[in-house]
Amino acid sequence: MKMSSSVVAYSVRNFPPFMHRSLPLFCLHRRLGRRPLPSPCTVLFKTSSSSCTLPNPFYFTGNFLFRRMERFWAGRSVNKNKGMVEHLQRYGIIQSKKVAEVMETVDRALFVPDGSQAYEDSPMPIGFNATISAPHMHATCLQLLEKNLQPGMHALDVGSGTGYLTACFALMVGPQGRAIGVEHIPELVAMSVKNVEKSAAAPLLKDGSLALLVADGREGWPEFAPYDAIHVGAAAPEIPKPLIEQLKPGGRLVIPVGNIFQELKVVDKNEDGSVTVRTETSVRYVPLTSREAQLRGY
Ligand code: SAH
Repeated sequence: MKMSSSVVAYSVRNFPPFMHRSLPLFCLHRRLGRRPLPSPCTVLFKTSSSSCTLPNPFYFTGNFLFRRMERFWAGRSVNKNKGMVEHLQRYGIIQSKKVAEVMETVDRALFVPDGSQAYEDSPMPIGFNATISAPHMHATCLQLLEKNLQPGMHALDVGSGTGYLTACFALMVGPQGRAIGVEHIPELVAMSVKNVEKSAAAPLLKDGSLALLVADGREGWPEFAPYDAIHVGAAAPEIPKPLIEQLKPGGRLVIPVGNIFQELKVVDKNEDGSVTVRTETSVRYVPLTSREAQLRGY
């Protein structure tokens, strides 16, 4: 799949109400083949060789209130990890104490490239045509998976990228549990190991309850299956069967599904082995694909 413009990971539902109105326009622009309207936060522009972050040109258009709200949402005044978490709590995205605690404990600045606006509520390029998801997306997925990330449980993070969410999972399941990150770009795995080593999750990496591995995540990671929680950080054209197979009865899989139009699906495995699937929200993620396709730009 060719991604022609922004490559991001964010959700639509969590934006303030007036933001929702831009979605049909986004779709219309897509159909007309024009550049889509930008996301409410920073827009990632893809150049032929790499992705880079530029200020959203629409900051300087539109009405004054919109601009002020947009700046507020972009989190320019939020320059500390705790402030970022409080911001997400105020918007109702973080609802539980546990998720707030873990996101406060894992400093996001250790996981974004140097010089990035670490606490801005925006996805950011991390190289290799990948991004670290926006904080509100990480928070949403942690909330959805919280009950399946109790101490001692097993969690799989497919497309672990920077390792941020795997580190959060590891702190939630603790030393008696397992948090496995699977990522298919070896350089990103090496970087994620360095990131985690600087973070509060470092002891868990050392004792082996947290592992970051190079593999094709579409196959899951059978060694530590079945999993109570599986998260996929990239959009799949359809839900990969091995991931459903590796889910424990009572377990939950959270996965973005789709190509240009994507939905975050919540897949619950029932005790009899059947699955229930529901849609949580509209999202935009990089594709879950082969390494070759990703490196040539999809
Ligand atoms: N959740 C991570 C990264 C999100 S970007 C974070 O927030 O830091 C999606 C990631 O999925 C990228 O790092 C990309 O390299 C990875 N990915 C895409 N297809 C994959 C596959 N088939 N197997 C493993 N990882 C994959």
